Amino acid sequence: MKKEYIHSFKSFDEDFKKKAKKTIKDVNGVPYVCYELEPGVWGSCGEVDPAYKPEITEGSLPGDVSKQKFCVQHHKPNFYYIDIPYKCNTCGKEAIFSAHEQKHWFEDLHFHFDSFPKGCIECRRKRREDEFKRIATQSTKKSKHKD
Ligand SMILES: [Zn+2]
Repeated sequence: MKKEYIHSFKSFDEDFKKKAKKTIKDVNGVPYVCYELEPGVWGSCGEVDPAYKPEITEGSLPGDVSKQKFCVQHHKPNFYYIDIPYKCNTCGKEAIFSAHEQKHWFEDLHFHFDSFPKGCIECRRKRREDEFKRIATQSTKKSKHKD
């Protein structure tokens, strides 16, 4: 029988929680609540105990684990964020994936934990503007077509 992979977002679904068995597990000293449809089935996801508070590195931005959506089998929770330097793959400029931006990506926008900016802020803004112009041009063409 094919065992269905349960995506992390589904594990936060109330319906899923009702059907699944709740257990408390421990991975690398981090306790988390695990919801399994069948005990020990690969792909079952859980939730990290939001009350768990590890030691925070000085100068880092604390993360709110209760706002993060991810799969504990693949990712560790972001208890804190630090600035990550990288090179823009469009203009080659040195850029910073700031702690505040990471918090926004993973806690407000619920981006996948593997997400990482491809370009610097300027290049991303330019790409968005180009995209906006393209859509705007298309809708202008459409409305003209109607007349
Ligand atoms: Zn750039």
